[in-house]
Amino acid sequence: MVETNSENPAKEFMSTLPGDDVRQIMWRFADRYDIQMAVQSARSLARGVVARLVAEGARSSHEWNDKKAQLLTGMDEMGLTTVFMDPDEGGFIDGPKNLALALVAFELSWVDAGAATCSLASNLALSPIHEKGTPEQRHEYMSRCVPPLPGEDRKPWRGAFALTEPLPYVGVDTGILSGRMRVKEWEEGKEPILQVEKRGRFITNMGFANFVTAAVDSDDPRIKGSAMVILEEGDPGVFDRGATTLKLVHQLSSTTDPILNLTVPASRIIGGYTVKEGVIIPNVNHSDMIEAVFRRTRAPVAVMSSAKLLSAIEPVIRYQRTRFRGGAASSAGSPRYDLGLQQKEDALQRLVDIWASGEAGASLGFAAVRLFDEFDPIEREKERVLGERGIKGGRAQMKLFKEMEKSVLEYLDLAHRPEGERDEARLAELASDPLVQFLIRDSQANVLCPACKLWNTGQAATMMREAVSLMGGYGITEDCPGFLGQKWTDAQLEATYEGPEAVQRRQLSITMTNEIFLAQFRQWIKDLRGIAGRRPESGACTLASAMELWLFTLGYLQKAKDADGKPLYHSQRHGVVFPFSDALCWLLASRQQILDMLELEEKGPGNPLLAEGLAGFVNFFSDLCHVQAARAAGEVGRICAELVYGYNRHPDWCRDAMEICFQGEQLDALECIIPGIAGYAKDTVEADGTHASKAGPCPTESLETFKLLRHRLDICLTGAHLAKDRAATAIANVMIPEALDYPA
Ligand SMILES: Cc1cc2nc3c(=O)[nH]c(=O)nc-3n(C[C@H](O)[C@H](O)[C@H](O)COP(=O)(O)OP(=O)(O)OC[C@H]3O[C@@H](n4cnc5c(N)ncnc54)[C@H](O)[C@@H]3O)c2cc1C
Repeated sequence: MVETNSENPAKEFMSTLPGDDVRQIMWRFADRYDIQMAVQSARSLARGVVARLVAEGARSSHEWNDKKAQLLTGMDEMGLTTVFMDPDEGGFIDGPKNLALALVAFELSWVDAGAATCSLASNLALSPIHEKGTPEQRHEYMSRCVPPLPGEDRKPWRGAFALTEPLPYVGVDTGILSGRMRVKEWEEGKEPILQVEKRGRFITNMGFANFVTAAVDSDDPRIKGSAMVILEEGDPGVFDRGATTLKLVHQLSSTTDPILNLTVPASRIIGGYTVKEGVIIPNVNHSDMIEAVFRRTRAPVAVMSSAKLLSAIEPVIRYQRTRFRGGAASSAGSPRYDLGLQQKEDALQRLVDIWASGEAGASLGFAAVRLFDEFDPIEREKERVLGERGIKGGRAQMKLFKEMEKSVLEYLDLAHRPEGERDEARLAELASDPLVQFLIRDSQANVLCPACKLWNTGQAATMMREAVSLMGGYGITEDCPGFLGQKWTDAQLEATYEGPEAVQRRQLSITMTNEIFLAQFRQWIKDLRGIAGRRPESGACTLASAMELWLFTLGYLQKAKDADGKPLYHSQRHGVVFPFSDALCWLLASRQQILDMLELEEKGPGNPLLAEGLAGFVNFFSDLCHVQAARAAGEVGRICAELVYGYNRHPDWCRDAMEICFQGEQLDALECIIPGIAGYAKDTVEADGTHASKAGPCPTESLETFKLLRHRLDICLTGAHLAKDRAATAIANVMIPEALDYPA
């Protein structure tokens, strides 16, 4: 479809909703047939068994039951249980599987997030074993969880991950464990036998789990520190699944408060142990274990929430279009009949916002899991190199990494200089250093993972409410098409489990100031300026300006003090660092959304099935990018302004500030100030690899610069609402199927 008028050049709209061809390119699995197979399997389970369970009311009970158990057999039959396993353990995907697992979670969550959680929780239970277990533990438990092959007579095992404890113990703070392990028997020359006690709270899969990976602390001078331990259903002692959690959400997953008190051999300590002077020392403590686990498992949860937003689009369009059909004033072919509620600008534009937000979240979440796919082998290589050098982690590792920061920054600098203007030999040397490559990915992962968990889930909970509201009263009924009401409330659990928002903000407030991350962030701003030159309508310019404002504000906050002389940027000062972390998330999501749109534009022509409609999709996604970038810029501007001005006291400071601001009012000043900003924001590595001075402008200059940056940001919103209008028109014109494909 092509719309032309004298003011707008020809602008092709998309004719259908984006399908697999588009998504495979945007989320980078067009050449992964193994992953495409997993996606198809998950989709058919979601839109078949899962959708029927929801439609038949299976969510109305808290208890795990035979009906819900169809999910487990369904996952086994569709091959989803084995997506987590390597081929030699019975799986079918070779290499890292973070993207594959996230896509499975996306498909299941498209219909019901509880079903997705049920799938993810077994992998979560296996994750400590997968990440840090001994080769024997890994082989044993991964193989047991694989469904039986034809001719085999055994049941696949399911697991639960037990960290959270009854109040007042483990929740957000995971340090103080009440779970305990003691030596029960230890005969000379034999394996020690442990007594392990663990009470859990809100433990997923507990209604049917055959084993539990439990975090416990030592209660015995013969055991040092904490660990995670594997507890099995058949171990001697108490394996009480406990009271069922009376959840309001995710009722297709099982959650209980188990009571476990079991006797197990010390070989169940995940990652093994060493004995030194009669003391058992677990090789991996529970904190390191959960860090390794959560940094991977949180990103698929983020993707789940975004799936729900995107799944809301089709049901809302259908509802809006058909809203007035059949009324006395509506006859086929009339705008009222054909467009229904889509005649109303607000109804359409709110849907644009929901769609843009879902796209941004999906882009950020999938970027995070792809990063982990890339990171997994690099991390293993890092461990090998450190092992060779006799560095076991802890302080020695931190010291080495601190020393290496200079080389990493040098590499990042060289990598972005034009060929011919850089030392190629040095670049090649640094490029082949596994530790340099590790530190770059690590700095990104330490930001992207908490960012997507925080932003996608929290933002989805807010935007799902918008989606529900667009369905009117139907939105808050159980039979709302697309189950939107359930998806809304479910989103709050995704924002809570595996660490609520405070946990992610806490992590971000530390990791986002890492110089290696910031050096990349500065480069991303430059890249976006380049993109803006080629594709001004993508919102890249808006985003780059918002990123500059954020970066400048970070420098300001790190130096500034409040009206009482207390430093502003401090990890315990949540009022500053938490909203500032949120601001970063808006930027990261928007950036990734733009990159995915560009990927579609670049790779789309290679797919003959897409060739015809590609321009329409690229135009539409570009408009959504612009809408989202403007929204992100608004949030970032607001948050930064609140933090910069909000810690000063009325009235004197305010009067001074006004004076400064009005002096710098001329727009011409923007031109003068931008080179200054570029200088401030440019890579801070000198030719000899040392850091340039990080001393920022004096407070007066800072304030003026801040004001100009903010002003420029406002101007950079140019065209954002035109993009929203175009996106709304595209939605009003897009073809949708006659009926939703679930429940079948
Ligand atoms: C349905 C469901 C399934 C779950 N599945 C599992 C599972 O399989 N395994 C498992 O181990 N756990 C599981 N959990 C537990 C979940 O991970 C925890 O509920 C979550 O981590 C929060 O802990 P909490 O409920 O104790 O909240 P609290 O620790 O009490 O925190 C409540 C709120 O207080 C604030 N807060 C707390 N501490 C801080 C701080 N240091 N700084 C700033 N703010 C803070 C935050 O706003 C936080 O959201 C599940 C929970 C539910 C509801």
